[in-house]
Amino acid sequence: MESEALIMSDFNWCHGPKCHEEHTVDRVRGVKGSKVLRTRKVPQNKWNEGTKWRYFCSRGCMEQFLHFNLDEFIRLHPRTECLETPINNPIKETHTHDYSWGRHSYTTTKIEVDETR
Ligand SMILES: [Zn+2]
Repeated sequence: MESEALIMSDFNWCHGPKCHEEHTVDRVRGVKGSKVLRTRKVPQNKWNEGTKWRYFCSRGCMEQFLHFNLDEFIRLHPRTECLETPINNPIKETHTHDYSWGRHSYTTTKIEVDETR
């Protein structure tokens, strides 16, 4: 029986749609006369485990992927109506401080989730 370690890959190809078009030396592969720019490998390690960075070599590649595929994501996960979080009546508080140059006050509004609803 094959062990899990042999089945699991230790890298993902970067999912940036134009990763292989970036002009960097580390992407150059192939023999003389038939060189290519190749999609980068993204090593799977504890630094990118469980994050989006296990699929992308750079922020640019991640943003291009999002740009190219956003409409598809939205079709998969449509928001057809708004969501609401129940809250208690907001409480307005005035804070006053005396400084050497005078009195200064500002207001804050406390917003708390209503756990009973
Ligand atoms: Zn990339």
